[in-house]
This record gives sequence, C-alpha cells and structure tokens, in this order.
Amino acid sequence: MSEPATQTRPASRHRVLLVEDERDIRELVRYSLEQEGFIVDESADADSALERIAHRAPDLMVLDVMLPGMSGLELCRRMRAQPPTAAMPILMLTAKGAEVDRVLGLEMGADDYVVKPFSPREVVARVRALLRRARLLSEPGAGGGFERGRLKMDFGTYEAFIDGRRLEMTLREFELLRFFVQHPLRVYTREQLLDLVWGRDTFVEPRTVDVHVRRLRCHIERDDANPELILTVRSVGYRFNPETLG
Ligand code: CA
Repeated sequence: MSEPATQTRPASRHRVLLVEDERDIRELVRYSLEQEGFIVDESADADSALERIAHRAPDLMVLDVMLPGMSGLELCRRMRAQPPTAAMPILMLTAKGAEVDRVLGLEMGADDYVVKPFSPREVVARVRALLRRARLLSEPGAGGGFERGRLKMDFGTYEAFIDGRRLEMTLREFELLRFFVQHPLRVYTREQLLDLVWGRDTFVEPRTVDVHVRRLRCHIERDDANPELILTVRSVGYRFNPETLG
C-alpha cells in the first residue's frame, strides 16, 4: 500500500523569540524567519524577554549578547537555570571580533552563535539545525527498546517482533507503535498523534492516523477486528493498552 499524500509544508510553525535591541537587525532576522514560516516574537531587552517567556516559552531563542540593561549572557544563564527553559535551544548573536562573547556565550549555555554581520540565511539555517537537534535529543529511547510479552521492539535497528515473528513495517508505522508503547494507557487524539509522531513540519490529514492504526492492528493484534492493544476511544482518539501483551 502506498503512503497517503504527505506534503512538506514550506514552513514549520515553530515559535522563535528574537531578543535584540537594534531595530534594523531585528527586522531583518524577523523577516527572514517569517518568510520560512516561523512565528516570531520580539523583545528589545532582556526584561521584556523574561516577561514574554514567563507567559509563553518559545521553541527557540535568538539572543543578542549586547543588550541594554541585563546582558544576553545573563539572560542565557537564567534560561539554563530553570527547568522550563533549561533545554530550549539558544542561538547567540555576537559582535565581530568579540571572541570573549562567543566563549562566554557557549559557557553560559548557548547552543550556537552567529557573528555580526551575518546573512539572514545563515541565521535561518542555524535555527533549523538547532531545532532538528533538539527534537532528536528529546526523542526518548533512541537506541533503547521495548519488550513485553508478545511484543518486542528495538528502537535502534527499527525492528519489531510479535510472537517472535519479525514485522514488515514502514518507518512511520514503527514510529507510531514506538510512541504508543512509550505512552501507554493515555488517550491521544488524532491531532495530537499527528503532532507528536509525524511532527510539525509535515502536513497530513487526521485520517492518516486511522490508516496507520489499521495497519498496526493488522501487524500486532491477534484479531484486528477486535483490537485489544490499540483501542479506539470513541469520538476522542486512540489508547494503547499493553496489559494484554502478556
Ligand atoms: Ca545589541
């Protein structure tokens, strides 16, 4: 069976907070990121950035080192000190020749930096790379596995076995099953599953989830007409029940 139409959106909907006091640079970076589909919030200083973050943490921060009042380095240090923003990717903007800023920035927990004057395209590329890395790192159990009763999965080799029989699965089916075994019992809507398994960079219809669930059931259920592992929760979504694996 062929994959349902999957369309790569020109843009992702990641939210970026841009902290920079120089208006021209702010506008340049903002424009470039928005062109690529990012949602961009702006702050001209660290204090207003803190307020924004308290209200809503961004997916990534682009942070100028030299700010009026609290410096970008200090803001970076504070981000790293508290759990909600401790792992948030931070891209620093540093002045040309300011080697110290670069070193300190990385010491304070910045993930990467670009040196002024930079091309907006470079900023966009770094932002993308950091978000990709953050996503990979947050994926639980990369290289680990799952084993319970009839089902065995190796997250490193992307192999799955049911009753000792190796399953022929697509990558996406494997990822959906991995998500289920790692998040048992809770009910997820189709939209949540799309967001969490397919990611925010692709555009697929919610019924794609149903198609994949149907295929997974064929793979792992004893009787896919009467599923006992991947349960449908009417008018909500799906729930994985590992209890019957044995
Ligand atoms: Ca500045």
